[in-house]
Amino acid sequence: MTTILGIESTAHTFGIGIVKNRKILANVRDMYVTEKGGIIPIESAKHHAKISHELYKKALEVSGIKEKEIDAIAFSQGPGLAPCLIEGIKFAKEISLKLKKPLVGVNHCVAHIEIGKTTGAKDPVMLYASGANTQVIAYASGKYRVFGETLDIGVGNFIDNFARYSGIGFPGGPAIEKLAKNGKNFIELPYKVKGMDITLSGILTNLKQKVESKKYPIEDLAYSLQETVFSMLVETAERALAHTGKNELLLGGGVACNSRLQEMCKIMCKERTSSFSGSSKSQTKERGAKFFCPERSLLVDNGSMIAFLGEIMFKSKSNVFSVEQIENADIHPTDRTDDIEVNWKC
Ligand code: AMP
Ligand code: MG
Repeated sequence: MTTILGIESTAHTFGIGIVKNRKILANVRDMYVTEKGGIIPIESAKHHAKISHELYKKALEVSGIKEKEIDAIAFSQGPGLAPCLIEGIKFAKEISLKLKKPLVGVNHCVAHIEIGKTTGAKDPVMLYASGANTQVIAYASGKYRVFGETLDIGVGNFIDNFARYSGIGFPGGPAIEKLAKNGKNFIELPYKVKGMDITLSGILTNLKQKVESKKYPIEDLAYSLQETVFSMLVETAERALAHTGKNELLLGGGVACNSRLQEMCKIMCKERTSSFSGSSKSQTKERGAKFFCPERSLLVDNGSMIAFLGEIMFKSKSNVFSVEQIENADIHPTDRTDDIEVNWKC
């Protein structure tokens, strides 16, 4: 029996999860939000510091776990906003010293992938669509490799930036989704896929110019933004499926909460499968694709995904710091998904 406490703090969310033998016993979180404007890293870090002890207490209560039952403390090591990561590691070290239990440094993006596999996906291509990160990822030869990614800003940051420009606070994604549902006219926007990669900053400029012109209803712009940019994401994800020969698509990250993005992914997987329906059964299975998407509480940033991967890494002795080595544990704000050696069984 292994019980791991997980701490998430990379950006807007401070979350604590408790996982015992891969079962999530608690997943509590609190998010820094704004009425107007985006995330101010220092303010978000202050939010994390203020809420940490209260959430820790709540996680223990929800899980029914006693402090002495915790075997290790996993924390989000990166990538993320440095001030926010610092609050997370500070709190993790405090608990580690108090309980005299080791720390496990967990990569936030890899945690999104591993928790996604609780849906039943075994060897998926993952479309990871979050605030700062937008990547198409799949496992190959000891690492989660990035097959395609944004060349400039993450899709969530892109949507938040457009929302902010239109007078909407953070997070902008849910508000844009609501507006898009009332959009009636598709307005053509630049479509920027470059091989397996995408770029978003030019589309953002174009959208801002359209807002400035006051010629277009915000609902139509929101609708056209979603149709255009989500198509770009789905196109690159499908190309990665074709390239790797994998037959599962896993959606993850906060933008994956968007029901239109989920619908587009489902359609692509369905069409991919039916386009091979004339082939033999085994060929269809090989070339078709099944769609997987975790529930909302696991899509958004959360502590249980850190605890979940923390347990796997603790058992495989990967990036574990004993209490004596605790000073060696540091944050990794710029780590990439493909920097991480995956020395556990995928
Ligand atoms: P993450 O960085 O994975 O925590 O995701 C946060 C990002 O997800 C923010 O940029 C949000 O605006 C975005 N987001 C959350 N819900 C939605 C939604 N329903 N549609 C689009 N984006 C969303
Ligand atoms: Mg995230």
